[in-house]
Amino acid sequence: MKNIIFLAPPNGGKGTLSEMLVEKYGYGHISTGDLLRDEIAAKTELGREVENIMKSGKLVSDEIILKLIANRITKPDCANGYILDGFPRTKVQAEKYEELLQKLGKDLGIVIYIDITKEMALNRSISRITCPKCKKIYNKFSEQMRPKVEWICDDCGVELVQREDDKKETFIKRFDEYMDKTMPLYEYYKNKGVLETIKAYPDKFDTFNEAIQVIEK
Ligand code: ADP
Repeated sequence: MKNIIFLAPPNGGKGTLSEMLVEKYGYGHISTGDLLRDEIAAKTELGREVENIMKSGKLVSDEIILKLIANRITKPDCANGYILDGFPRTKVQAEKYEELLQKLGKDLGIVIYIDITKEMALNRSISRITCPKCKKIYNKFSEQMRPKVEWICDDCGVELVQREDDKKETFIKRFDEYMDKTMPLYEYYKNKGVLETIKAYPDKFDTFNEAIQVIEK
């Protein structure tokens, strides 16, 4: 299986699409956001270090992220292919990641850019709720993505939460940070000839089908 890197603004749908692709193909799923939130929840030293940075909508240091990634991609569930959901987010991360791949003898795979408007991403941000235990993503206002029982995870029965950084002001900061630091990776990967673009639709299955087409091309 080709490894996948998702490139998309905050709330572009990386997490939801990753879940669907993991289920279909058995990819390992690496969400740097989830890895960091787990550290915060477990109150580790690293968690304390990144908590305020994440709340402000800024990016965590490349050094921390690269350590997390180096540790995670060598785990058994990633042996046959994995999805990077939220990494790389800066040019430095992209370059260091390629050095790491070379050392490990792994392939870059494909980069899937999810095309979404700022307005659509903002609306999703305000309505997103997640399960703190299994990380499943729900949407309060979407027929398709609403939990069966309000504020309760369908799978775990645990109370759902709204992410700290999904408030409007933080979303705007995260979006600006994305345009400034992450969007340059679009050209970077385009020049390498590994970039594929899919569109974000209101129906997640439409986006999923486009993703399948580029993966199986
Ligand atoms: P979303 O899925 O909404 O884009 P994430 O859950 O991926 O958001 O990330 C949330 C926050 O975690 C980011 O705003 C940033 O502070 C931190 N983070 C996640 N991945 C990275 C990364 N690769 N580099 C730096 N910071 C990161």
